[in-house]
Amino acid sequence: MRDCIFCKIISGELPSAKVYENDAVVAFLDIHPVRPGHTLVVPKIHCENLMDCNPEALSAMMEAAQKVARAVVSGTGAEGFNLGVNNGAAAGQVIFHLHLHIIPRSRGDGLALWGQTEYKEGEMVALAEKIKTSL
Ligand code: 5GP
Ligand code: ZN
Repeated sequence: MRDCIFCKIISGELPSAKVYENDAVVAFLDIHPVRPGHTLVVPKIHCENLMDCNPEALSAMMEAAQKVARAVVSGTGAEGFNLGVNNGAAAGQVIFHLHLHIIPRSRGDGLALWGQTEYKEGEMVALAEKIKTSL
């Protein structure tokens, strides 16, 4: 897609520190890493986010994420990793070409991804019902 940075990286029009590629997916290092080795796994077809991507591209992305995450952990000496998608502007998505973030983690690295909250009495069950009826 024209004017999409990740499409340009996929086509080679823009450079990247690529770590993996197959027919469906490419993985390269995030230019502004949360932790060193922070890697993005990106389907080659342009889709905006999880909502408009076809199941084949989603499975290819997840299959590649497993392979790449092993290498990220091993190559950086991390102890684990976070896997995430910022889906939509409200969730912090800034590049509107679907990508998975693999963020290597080690105990005591000081990174806190999100805080947690509590439900009021009955609120959790009511919300679960609303979500179920939206399926
Ligand atoms: P989002 O918030 O959309 O999930 O994340 C987009 C990510 O892409 C950000 O973490 C940002 O640092 C990364 N990014 C943006 N532009 C470039 C680029 O030109 N090259 C690379 N390698 N990463 C980029
Ligand atoms: Zn794109």
